[in-house]
Amino acid sequence: MFDLLIANGQVVSPSLTITADVGIRGEKIAGIFEPGTPLEAYRTIDATGLYVLPGGIDPHTHYGMRFGNSVTRDHYREGTLAAAFGGTTTFIDFAFQEPGSTLIDIFRKREAEAKGQAVIDYAFHSGITDGSASTIREMAEMISLGVPSFKLFTVYREANLFVDDATLFAVFREAARIGALPVVHAENEHIVNRSTRDLLSQGNGAVEYYAGSRPRVAEIEAVQRIMLLAREASSAVYFVHITCKESVEAIRQARRQGYPVYGETCPHYLTLTDEVYQKNDGYNYIMAPPLRRTEDNHALWEAIRELSIATVASDESSWHTTDKARGKTCFDQAPPGLVGTETRLPVLFSQGVSQGKISINRFVALSATNPAKLFGLYPRKGILAVGSDADIVLIDPDEKIRLEVSNIHHGAGYSPYGGLKGKGVPITTISRGRIIMENREFIDHPGHGKFIQRSIKPEILAEPIIR
Ligand SMILES: [Zn+2]
Repeated sequence: MFDLLIANGQVVSPSLTITADVGIRGEKIAGIFEPGTPLEAYRTIDATGLYVLPGGIDPHTHYGMRFGNSVTRDHYREGTLAAAFGGTTTFIDFAFQEPGSTLIDIFRKREAEAKGQAVIDYAFHSGITDGSASTIREMAEMISLGVPSFKLFTVYREANLFVDDATLFAVFREAARIGALPVVHAENEHIVNRSTRDLLSQGNGAVEYYAGSRPRVAEIEAVQRIMLLAREASSAVYFVHITCKESVEAIRQARRQGYPVYGETCPHYLTLTDEVYQKNDGYNYIMAPPLRRTEDNHALWEAIRELSIATVASDESSWHTTDKARGKTCFDQAPPGLVGTETRLPVLFSQGVSQGKISINRFVALSATNPAKLFGLYPRKGILAVGSDADIVLIDPDEKIRLEVSNIHHGAGYSPYGGLKGKGVPITTISRGRIIMENREFIDHPGHGKFIQRSIKPEILAEPIIR
């Protein structure tokens, strides 16, 4: 007897699509059967014509983040409710060290903020902002707390996030020693700062000039420099939000040479270009790195098709449009980042799978399985298999969507994808056996989301093959 049976759907893994019945008992997947097998369940969902997929895993979110005087609108409660509507069942947020604080203190603080608020499961990357010997020593302790990935910024000195090359190298060496994955925002801060200063001093602070303040060479140079540091330290490295075709090519080559280098991109870098900065609401798209060109969109689609870019994350930052509007006449006054957990799967599905750019199996790899494997959640999450958590999203590939501010749930007051049309709608989301969204209605289970301890498999850190 199952608690829940999802019958007759197209059950998808990164390598296979089969028609099957998925039986759930308690929080776990208890059996996967050929359709027609006599099975009993308290409740059966008919998934005929639907994709049955592992719930989305978003490895890059910023809920309840402060930057300068701004705070994101969506904290753990509102943000994860929107994520559930978008078919995401696990997210990895950040615990950034503040001046004078330890990694552990900040992690405990962030964990306490999420507990009882998040409606889906969660984990944290530890954010290192000070490269002191005591911080480096603490990294091993973070691993024992189930936090084996460390985020580093190469920009944002003014927000106390920047670390220099010496700190990167020290963190990489320790990561290689203890079995951790460094996660890096790669931009050359000198080039960014000089370009920004030059534009502002010439009176070109309007948002239409924004892309020029963070030239593509800033990313391309930083990716290659950081790969060199990681290689010399014998460390794996994961780059967040890759935007340029030259960065993709550098990552592709390093992977071919056997280095454990992983890249992430985001739906906006796949689907939008820097032309949006010419629009009236161009300030809504201020993010770092900025949007690029159509040829970069193409290179990124190719990269996710062949998996030289391993994941598609949201980089969710739900600044309200009134905060973003401060960047209209002076782009450096807007908090950088774009809202996106809710639209991540619908955009990737409607613009990727529906349009034949990627297969449904790739979609699963990019949105769930690879993030789970890289960050140590697999096989508990990221796959529909007996014994795995029953984290499932049902997507109707034929249902039309039109994304508008009025039909999405985050609190930003705008959507970067306003007016975007396509096919493929997440219609039901299940988190550890509980239906939390059904037929586009949210079903609350207060305090349902749980902190998940992670541990990254040694082979992920040793070679660039995601097994
Ligand atoms: Zn981010």
